[in-house]
Amino acid sequence: TLTGKTAVVTGSTSGIGLAIARGFAGAGANIVLNGMGVPADIEKERSGIETDFKVKAVHSPADMTKPAEIAEMVALGEKTFGSVDILVNNAGIQFVSPIEEFPPEKWEAIIAINLSSAFYGIRAAIPGMKKRGWGRIINTASAHSLVASPFKSAYVSAKHGIAGLTKTAALELAQHKITVNCISPGYVWTPLVEHQIPETMKARNLTKEQVIKDVLLAAQPTKEFVTSEQVAALALFLCSDDAAQITGSNYSIDGGWTAE
Ligand code: NAD
Repeated sequence: TLTGKTAVVTGSTSGIGLAIARGFAGAGANIVLNGMGVPADIEKERSGIETDFKVKAVHSPADMTKPAEIAEMVALGEKTFGSVDILVNNAGIQFVSPIEEFPPEKWEAIIAINLSSAFYGIRAAIPGMKKRGWGRIINTASAHSLVASPFKSAYVSAKHGIAGLTKTAALELAQHKITVNCISPGYVWTPLVEHQIPETMKARNLTKEQVIKDVLLAAQPTKEFVTSEQVAALALFLCSDDAAQITGSNYSIDGGWTAE
């Protein structure tokens, strides 16, 4: 149980982050939501967490490209709930292009959001966790923290980087009862993925089933999506006392992708 604990989950207005936030709230944690979106939609998710799980939730609008705002997000959790015990660095974006045409501003944004934001978040959360002698830091990496795909130079670099940051932080915090791990999903069924299907059906003259199996899941041997809830369940396990000796690890949840 996470009753009395507070979790900050970056990029939790959608997809995997939202599922993790709801999973932690279901275990009793108070939640700092973070991410972009329509204010009314964000408020619906925030209040929904409070009514569904009888915990408290606040939203931090911190932009993950801005180190000062990341520190403010952690401070908001500490001020509102008294502590930040769990930090999930999950916010992420993607851009696909050959390197020679890859816009430098996209490279900078992906490195900032998918990698540097985790450094700034961890940096801000450590002092409180050390003082209380307990902490859980989980980074949403990707199968792309272990293998590459063409045309995803910034994403693959950032995700390999976050795997390294995870190991380094784990070693630094090993004797403070603070664990640091990353989760590496394959293809996860998020709204983002779902919305690509009708267009791809049209463009390639394929059925929905063909798009899913032969296009989207070409790299995933199970030919099934990971669900956000499955990722959330793994994150929740990493917060448990049973996981106290798991640190510096990179957990694949990818339907066999990286076994190939
Ligand atoms: P998503 O687009 O549904 O959610 C991304 C979240 O990040 C949103 O809440 C968005 O508002 C937030 N965000 C984006 N830019 C931000 C910024 N500058 N500041 C603050 N928040 C920002 O995507 P998702 O699929 O849930 O992805 C979440 C994480 O999981 C990412 O790190 C992604 O790389 C990783 N991942 C996703 C998949 C997949 O197949 N969906 C697979 C492996 C890893």
